[in-house]
Amino acid sequence: MTPAAISIPLATWTDLVYLLCAAGFILALKGLTNPKGARRGNLVGAGAAAVAIAMTFSRPELRDHLAGVNHGLNLILMIVAMVVGTAIAVPAARMVKMTAMPQMVAIFNGVGGGAAALVSITEFLKLTSGSGSSIPPAVLKFLPTGVTSPKPAVYVIAEVLVGVLIGSVSFSGSAIAFAKLQELMTGRPITYPAQQVINAVVGLAIVGLVIATLVTASVPLLVVVLVLSLVLGVIFVLPIGGADVPVLISLLNSFTGLAVAASGFTLGNNLLIIAGTLVGASGILLTRMMSSAMGRSLPNILFSAFGSVITATGGEEGDAARPVKSGTADDIGVLLAYARKVVIIPGYGLAVAQAQHTARELADALTKRGVEVFYAIHPVAGRMPGHMNVLLAEANVPYDQLKEMDEANPEMATADVALVVGANDTVNPAAISTPGSPIYGMPIVHADEAEHVIFLKRSMRPGFAGIDNELLYNPKTTMLFGDAKDSLQKLVAAVDSA
Ligand code: NDP
Repeated sequence: MTPAAISIPLATWTDLVYLLCAAGFILALKGLTNPKGARRGNLVGAGAAAVAIAMTFSRPELRDHLAGVNHGLNLILMIVAMVVGTAIAVPAARMVKMTAMPQMVAIFNGVGGGAAALVSITEFLKLTSGSGSSIPPAVLKFLPTGVTSPKPAVYVIAEVLVGVLIGSVSFSGSAIAFAKLQELMTGRPITYPAQQVINAVVGLAIVGLVIATLVTASVPLLVVVLVLSLVLGVIFVLPIGGADVPVLISLLNSFTGLAVAASGFTLGNNLLIIAGTLVGASGILLTRMMSSAMGRSLPNILFSAFGSVITATGGEEGDAARPVKSGTADDIGVLLAYARKVVIIPGYGLAVAQAQHTARELADALTKRGVEVFYAIHPVAGRMPGHMNVLLAEANVPYDQLKEMDEANPEMATADVALVVGANDTVNPAAISTPGSPIYGMPIVHADEAEHVIFLKRSMRPGFAGIDNELLYNPKTTMLFGDAKDSLQKLVAAVDSA
């Protein structure tokens, strides 16, 4: 066999490299499933994406296109866009506070969806104007021959429509999610009469227009689909309360993945199809996991306007008529210093107070005295998945001290002290004992099983779910009121001098 006969075309090399990149993406997701592998997973994913982008410039159709008259300008525009994108994204990702991470994910996700929609629109315009397309010949051969302005095959338009519809919903929905989380607008659910009916009417109108566009390949109809999809994204997100928005973002993230996969089909790019599908599938799995960790169904999160009212039992300051026991940092410091086993249960308040480093200092001080310490991590403690793991990893908490809820719960009954730092709903026994409670069915960390329970929070105010927590009034509970970081600092001093 001559060397020419076994030479591999560039397109095949490109696909081979894409395959390796796809494997890199899957390994990255695997790494991201635990705190130890997360950093490596992130690097593998970023590396695979960088290689994929570089390889894209060697794709034969892109090179042919750029070699054409005046297309050098397109190359320059692409490079400028990449430089601008990098210059915005790198400092933004480095400087963002952990509590502001959900809105950053929202905005990055939104631009991804918008980009997928734009790619689809561009391809549609090229096809319907007959000005040439980056759609591969294998697809183009299905178009009618001998026609100067060919009508695209129905399934190509279908891919375009999926990209436009899902990408635009994801873009405008993410923009509203960002505005809610950034407090540019109210975080409370925005409701109005016949809201779900209006949403359904808009949805049905889009379905009708999609069918009409499939049949006619009409550009004006596509524009109407685009506009209505943007409207749907906005009205779909308005009734969702700020604290439920992270679940929504995970869902929109999944939508963006599907829109990208649709663009991959349109462009005949296998890696876009694989990457988009991975994002779509992992986003929907994450959405399901978050919903079940909150003990709520996805429809309840999306359509119930949860959080629009504070429930009667919750009130702004808890039940003022009932006695609660509060203690001093010195007394609690002594209790901790002479305990055998202390379980720290972090929650949203720890993130707000940025108290992760001080929590580690306290754990170190106790460990030095021979006290066994570990952290019990509830899957939805905080305001985004993995919130507590990320914060505690940032404070260099040893991984073997981090126990997921299911691993921690069997040990709670043998703990001398459950130290609840800015958590509330995730330790609220109403989730088990009170049918009808908004959090009934949500798995919790069983802080109530420890011999003593200490709450570090500023007041008797409820947590995200807006309901009172019976554990605050339990005789074995002691409150240490104040900002979590201040209280932890006082406890470190008290333990050191005990
Ligand atoms: P909660 O929201 O139930 O409670 C947080 C507590 O922290 C509040 O009671 C507040 O009390 C206290 N707090 C706030 N700031 C401070 C501070 N500076 N110092 C000390 N305490 C402070 O938090 P959990 O983590 O227990 O539960 C998370 C909730 O969020 C769950 O209901 C979950 O379903 C929901 N959620 C989680 C998502 C996720 O992905 N993680 C996504 C969407 C919702 P006070 O004001 O008295 O100080």
